[in-house]
Amino acid sequence: MNQHTKPNAPVLDSYWMPFTANRQFKAAPRLLASAEGMHYTSTDGRTILDGTAGLWCVNAGHGRRQIASAVERQLTTMDFAPSFQMGHPIAFDFAERLAEIAPGPEGQKLDRVFFTGSGSESVDTALKMAIAYQRAIGQGTRTRLIGRERGYHGVGFGGISVGGILNNRRVFPQLPGSDHLRHTHDPAKNAFVKGQPEHGAELADDLERLVALHGAETIAACIVEPVAGSTGVLIPPKGYLERLRAICDKHGILLIFDEVITGFGRLGAAFATDFFGVTPDMVTAAKGLTNGAIPMGAVFASRKVHDALMHGPENAIELFHGYTYSGHPAACAAGIATLDIYRDEGLMTRAADLQDAWHDAMHSLKGLPYVIDIRTIGLIAGIELQSRDGAIGARAYDVFVDCFEKGLLIRVTGDIIAFSPPLIADENHFGEIVSILGDALKRAK
Ligand code: PMP
Repeated sequence: MNQHTKPNAPVLDSYWMPFTANRQFKAAPRLLASAEGMHYTSTDGRTILDGTAGLWCVNAGHGRRQIASAVERQLTTMDFAPSFQMGHPIAFDFAERLAEIAPGPEGQKLDRVFFTGSGSESVDTALKMAIAYQRAIGQGTRTRLIGRERGYHGVGFGGISVGGILNNRRVFPQLPGSDHLRHTHDPAKNAFVKGQPEHGAELADDLERLVALHGAETIAACIVEPVAGSTGVLIPPKGYLERLRAICDKHGILLIFDEVITGFGRLGAAFATDFFGVTPDMVTAAKGLTNGAIPMGAVFASRKVHDALMHGPENAIELFHGYTYSGHPAACAAGIATLDIYRDEGLMTRAADLQDAWHDAMHSLKGLPYVIDIRTIGLIAGIELQSRDGAIGARAYDVFVDCFEKGLLIRVTGDIIAFSPPLIADENHFGEIVSILGDALKRAK
């Protein structure tokens, strides 16, 4: 029996933890017990500053009573209702609220909303919608899906097929025909940049190369994260997303932005779509949709995509797809309360006000040991460390453990440290992050 050392500590054997080195973790567990505002409290009573909004999701900060009460009210009124050939008003209400702030300019908003249970489900839903759309408009040969190297789109078979992370792919088979653009990260040309890098827009032309290789008539959609988060904060070069949009238009390929982390204010606008001024055909979302309080995802589809599927016999299901928990009443209640908080506290645009102070704070770490790049956009930062003797991730993992012990939660992926603090953060929190991380870097080996 693997018991955490304190009396009454939980037994750790049965829970098979996700994306975790289970044996290593269970030998020296880090357990969080409660959360309020910008902080967690660990089971050993330490206060820990949340530098990552949980996992990029708690945009309005922790412990929001308004969300908790809305969920409780909904669960005691109606806990669950089927959403296949049945409805409940709160799912429609939430979709209408989302339509008001949906990604895209007035008149072109992606205001048709399909609910899922997570980011991974949103991605697989959007990919299926793309293939169904192409078939509905008489382009049934278009089934190929294009992603990007170093992309992360969750863990469904669709998501790992278009994703570009070796460890997510090497053990599992992928959808036939999926292919990838190169990623846009070029540290030789673009190191220590605040905001969008200057160099690399031409990498979008990779899509032309794949069209020449496979034929446009085989390609249904291209999916990218506007800012890739999970693989270490890769920010699109100036002009890159515009160029991708133009190539998709030229060849009848749908463009999908995976906004699971960039949605709901992370960059200083409701969506990266609005921040960059480039409108895709679909946007996937999750995380900040309910402030992380209840699992939920959504796909925002354009009317073009939606309306193309609303044909055929009236009694036929237009898209044969959905989840038991699509539009779950408790998740919708959490989502509406979350949107109220974002609106009332101006959180969708707060990152725009904070970003100069944030960028300056993060870039002040330049020159500390092992720091080979710092990149920032909105309220996101990626700090890349030199790997230790070719052991990728070993040094960053040590820094992560050190920071946790000193009261700061950071996220590491390989040797890159990623930050995405709750949008309620202020400059004092930025100072604390710099101080704890700076000291940890000075101690790093
Ligand atoms: N897409 C992106 C861009 C993500 O960052 C994530 C999660 N980090 C996902 C999809 C998957 O979301 P989930 O873990 O909720 O399935």
